[in-house]
Amino acid sequence: MPALARQLAGLGGCTHPVRLDGHRTEYAVNNTTGEIGAVLHRLDSATFPAGHLLVRCNNRRATRCPACAETYRRDTYHLITAGLRGGKGTPDQVATHPRVFATFTAPGFGPVHNRRTDGRPCRCDAHHDQEDAALGTPLDPTTYDYESAVLWNAHAGPLWRRFSIYLRREIAKRAGLTQRTFRDHARVSFAKVAEYQKRGAVHFHAVIRLDGPEGGDTSPPAWASAELLTDAIRAAAAAARVDGPTIDGRAHNFAFGRQLDVRPIRSADFDNGQELTERAVAAYIAKYATKGAETTTGTLDRPIRFLAELAQARITEHARRMVRTAWTLGARKELEHLRLRAWAHMLGFRGHFSTKSRRYSTTLGALRTARADWRRAQTTPPAPQDGETTLVLAHWVFAGTGLSAAETWLAATLEPAPGTEGEPTA
Ligand SMILES: [Zn+2]
Ligand SMILES: [Zn+2]
Repeated sequence: MPALARQLAGLGGCTHPVRLDGHRTEYAVNNTTGEIGAVLHRLDSATFPAGHLLVRCNNRRATRCPACAETYRRDTYHLITAGLRGGKGTPDQVATHPRVFATFTAPGFGPVHNRRTDGRPCRCDAHHDQEDAALGTPLDPTTYDYESAVLWNAHAGPLWRRFSIYLRREIAKRAGLTQRTFRDHARVSFAKVAEYQKRGAVHFHAVIRLDGPEGGDTSPPAWASAELLTDAIRAAAAAARVDGPTIDGRAHNFAFGRQLDVRPIRSADFDNGQELTERAVAAYIAKYATKGAETTTGTLDRPIRFLAELAQARITEHARRMVRTAWTLGARKELEHLRLRAWAHMLGFRGHFSTKSRRYSTTLGALRTARADWRRAQTTPPAPQDGETTLVLAHWVFAGTGLSAAETWLAATLEPAPGTEGEPTA
């Protein structure tokens, strides 16, 4: 039992691990003769307490695996924080570069129930409270533009790409530079997350930073300021458009909604309570990185294979209409490239939930490798002698997922792995 508990504890709370059958053997190899010598280390799944090698599922979604989603959230937090104040290989000086936090919304597809800040009732005359499931759902589902709402989600990614091209152009224009010479002076880095609004439309939150020509470790030029960056973002967001399909004679094209929020990010040290701090921004982005469409749809967190599955899904009527619209549009030959059926459970959005430009900061992969290295260092297998290298032979086959009832029970009795960092959990 203690051995099984130890193996389960290594999963850090993952409840849907991947089970693997097989082995991994590390041999010492003589550098000069090439001869294979002693076995340095051997892992055999048959000898494990659970009978298999158990590997974390690494699922990002909180509804699928809370523990792995938490790890993902922490990693995202560190990734965003590194881009804001340095660390994990990103220079500290990024904290002095112009940085803003921007929210890009979707356009309107018809009136929805909402909560007004001025205390007046919704258009339906009700005063909705914060938890009201009606919030964000259409006042009149029969006139709500579901077709555009789904197609918006399908085009949000390309619209963001168009925006990022325009942004460089707008910054260059304000600095009196041509697009061609811009890259010799400055570079734009960003990290963004996609989030579903209550009405099921994707919108984006992004940290956008202005660096010197070589990225984070070079100082931005003298003209670079948060004000110039904000102004350029507004111009680029207003100009960005992508053409969508023409459906039954109706030409769709997509642009961001008029609500655009851009706020400078200050270092925590200089916060006077009015402006966004690095910590708040990182916590906010990390929180949304672990959520998918299920935040608006309820339990639909994986692809559907037949429309009939929708009948069993415990989702809101609005979400059901979104999914059904995606499914119906997905049958059209001319919309094949949007893969709307495969992404119907995501309400048509097929982009990545969190993305960043190459130079923003470290990567999730690098953070994962660092963690694996640390874990490996805890169990020190015999090292090869001088003049030797190692040869690793491994063979693993998929043997299933999840834990047995007994393993689940035992795993639940284990203390959660203590967090090593003290970031806010908001
Ligand atoms: Zn997991
Ligand atoms: Zn209402």
